[in-house]
Amino acid sequence: MKKLSVLFLLLAVLLSGCSTQECRETELFAMDTLIELRIWGGEEGELSALSQELYRLAALFSATDEESPVYQLNLLGEASLPPEVLSLLRASLSLCELTGGAFDPTVYPLVKAWGFPSKAYRVPQSDELAALLTGVGTQHIHLDGSSVRLDAGCELDFGAIAKGYAAEHCAALLQEHGVQAALLSLGGNVQTLGTKPDGSSWVIGIADPDDPGSAIATLTFTGSLALVTSGSYQRAFTQDGVTYHHILDPDTGLPADSGLRSVTVICDSATRADAYSTALFVMGLSDGIEFYRQQDDFEAVFLTTQGEIYATQGCAQMLGGCSFEIIVREEG
Ligand code: AMP
Ligand code: MG
Repeated sequence: MKKLSVLFLLLAVLLSGCSTQECRETELFAMDTLIELRIWGGEEGELSALSQELYRLAALFSATDEESPVYQLNLLGEASLPPEVLSLLRASLSLCELTGGAFDPTVYPLVKAWGFPSKAYRVPQSDELAALLTGVGTQHIHLDGSSVRLDAGCELDFGAIAKGYAAEHCAALLQEHGVQAALLSLGGNVQTLGTKPDGSSWVIGIADPDDPGSAIATLTFTGSLALVTSGSYQRAFTQDGVTYHHILDPDTGLPADSGLRSVTVICDSATRADAYSTALFVMGLSDGIEFYRQQDDFEAVFLTTQGEIYATQGCAQMLGGCSFEIIVREEG
C-alpha cells in the first residue's frame, strides 16, 4: 500500500501536492485538530483570512471555551444564540430526526462522563450513564426565536458537525473570492473546491485504522466534494485491556459497537457529510445501507471490524487500491 502523507487524525491526504506555482498552503491547529489549507489562485492574504475565520468558528461552536455561546448555554441552561449557532442547531435538529437519533447534538453529558473533552478518561458506571441518558434527546431543547432553553441535564455538543460546517463555509467564501481550486483538510474532514490549474484529479486517502498514517484506499475524482470520515481509531483510550472510543450510541451512552471501524461519507455538503458519517458509524452496516437507500444525497465507504470494505455504487468508480463489495441503491 502506497504510504501517503496523511494528516493528523485522518482521513486524508493528497498524492497531488502543490504542484504548480500558484499553490499556497498553511497549517493551523483549531477545533482540536490539525487543519491543512491549500489554495490555487486568490489574493495574497487569502490564507490568513481563512485561518482567522476558522479560529472564529472554532470559538463560536466550542463546548469547552468559556467565552463560547455554546458553553454559556450549557452552563446556564438558557441563552440567546448568535445566528450562525442557531442555524447549526436547527440543522442539527433536522439531521437528528433524519438519522433516527443516531446523530444527536445532546450527547455532551455522556461525552464528558467518558472524559473526552478533558482527556481525563474514565469508564462511567451503568447507573451513571442511565441517569445522564434522561437528559439526552432533542425534546429537551426549547427554541423561541433566537432564545434557547435546555431542560436540566441537557447540554449541546457540535463536535460531530462543526468541522463539516466550517469546511463548507470556508469553501463558499473561497468561491466568492474567485479562488480557482482549494483543498481544505480538517482532521477527518476534507473539502475540495474546483479544479487545479493543471486539470489533475484530487486523490484523497482513506486512513487505515491500523495505521492511520497510511491509506487503506484512495478516492480519485475532479471538482468540489466533501469527504468526511468518522472512525473509532480517531479518538480512544484503553482501560483494563478494553478500548473505548469517542462515537457514542445516544441510546445506550456507550461507544457505538456496530461492527464498523470507520465510515467515509462523500457528499456535496460537508455539514451533512459530517453528521451522516457519525450517524452511519452508530447505525452500523446494515442500518447504514437502509439509510443510504432512503437518501439520495450521499455515497459512503464502510470499513468493518472484520476487515471488509463496502462502497456504495455511486463512489465505487472513485475507489481504488483495495478490494471491496458494492452496495447498490436499488435491491433486486
Ligand atoms: P465525528 O468525529 O464527527 O464522528 O464526531 C465525534 C464527536 O461528536 C465526539 O468526539 C463527540 O464530541 C460527539 N459525538 C459522539 N457521539 C455522537 C453522536 N452519536 N451524535 C452526535 N455527536 C456525537
Ligand atoms: Mg461527524
